[in-house]
Amino acid sequence: MSDTLAVIAGKLSAQAIRIMGLGLGSNLPGRVSLKIAPSVLSHLSSQARKGVVAVSGTNGKSTTSGLIASIFGAASQKIVHNRQGANLLTGIAATVVDASNWTGNLDADYCLFEIDEAALPLVAKEVKIANIVVTNLFRDQLDRFGELDTTAKLITSGIAVNSSAAILNADDPNVAQMVPNVERLFYGIKNLATESCGETEGRELIGQANTSELSYCPSCGNEYEYDLLVYGQLGHYRCSCGHRRPEPEVYAEDVKVHATGSTFKLHYNNQSIDVELNLPGTFNVYNALASAALAFKLGLPSDAIKKGLCSYSTLFGRSERVNLDGKQILIQLIKNPAGASQALQAAARDPQGKFLIALNDNYADGRDVSWIWDADFEQLAGCEGPFVVSGTRCNDLAVRLKYAGVASEKITIEPSLDRALDQAKGLCSGEQILWLLPTYTCLLELQKIFKARGTPLAGT
Ligand SMILES: [Zn+2]
Repeated sequence: MSDTLAVIAGKLSAQAIRIMGLGLGSNLPGRVSLKIAPSVLSHLSSQARKGVVAVSGTNGKSTTSGLIASIFGAASQKIVHNRQGANLLTGIAATVVDASNWTGNLDADYCLFEIDEAALPLVAKEVKIANIVVTNLFRDQLDRFGELDTTAKLITSGIAVNSSAAILNADDPNVAQMVPNVERLFYGIKNLATESCGETEGRELIGQANTSELSYCPSCGNEYEYDLLVYGQLGHYRCSCGHRRPEPEVYAEDVKVHATGSTFKLHYNNQSIDVELNLPGTFNVYNALASAALAFKLGLPSDAIKKGLCSYSTLFGRSERVNLDGKQILIQLIKNPAGASQALQAAARDPQGKFLIALNDNYADGRDVSWIWDADFEQLAGCEGPFVVSGTRCNDLAVRLKYAGVASEKITIEPSLDRALDQAKGLCSGEQILWLLPTYTCLLELQKIFKARGTPLAGT
């Protein structure tokens, strides 16, 4: 009974929010429902006929969940998904309340939840999660989570609550050593095709290895050696003591990354799938592998996996492609050094690309913008540009670009995002792509700007 009341109250508050135009992703309906019936999330999510799956980790949660949703769609599975990215306990509660009917019945094969690392233990106490995908573990906004170890412990304890099966990135030593006592399925990259490893990328890989992300062997504390370094701390690592990367059962072979996408052969058991991914960057190959690994684990058919990966159209601000006034724009959210370096690497593959990079320092962006000094903006030094920088901290970005080797005359500073967008757009001719790299609150601002111009972004 209290569940029904909670559902009704949650739905009514969600409607009120919609009517008042308060915007997306509000946690309020979830908070209202949980207040009335603390077990509402637990009861609703347990109705998913084939169970609950979750995605956590530092980078790639939204895209990985989006790819999983796409595969589920191709396999005709009905799902409930917090696709607007409200990934804390209240946001997830709001999602299931919204998806259920007025009497608290949920009609779904699966619940698919993207879950913030810090929220995972809390959500796992309410929701029996059968499978948890972990994407990677990078340093995020330090003012939010503190040490990497803390995040690893949060994820580990979240998995332990239900002894969920873990789908783990074998190439990330921070992730692969997690939860040895539960059922695990590993995914990873077997090799990069030679044409992906140009001179620039070789330099960049060595550069990143020397920066912050390297990790150490949990058995003996020595630094890992790498037979293949993909980016950050991701690759084929091993230690002199014998500890090494687990051999992944799901893997990508001959990965070829080009400016706006990639191709690879996806393997699992005796199955081999040719994948053409319309998402830029090696980081998205990992997101595709993570989603495919879960799909294989659930026994979904390989043609649905292929279709789900190849036909994926992006989520709001995650490698999203938009056409505005005849100009091609590719939007990639940046929020921490590792993710930004990957976005920059993808953009740097496009020699004619134009750039708009926007940095705010609101709470959701991280108040401390010094992280931009750990992101590899040096990759842009060889790009033709020009570069427009915007946001409340546009001047910091301009300084960062200058130190990265970008000539001052190629940099334009425009604090207003609206005007910056017009300037940057004006630089593109014909098929040239505008790479738009915003931090989180800049992305929210852009959402309003695009909507006002009659080209709303995905899901808005
Ligand atoms: Zn060792």
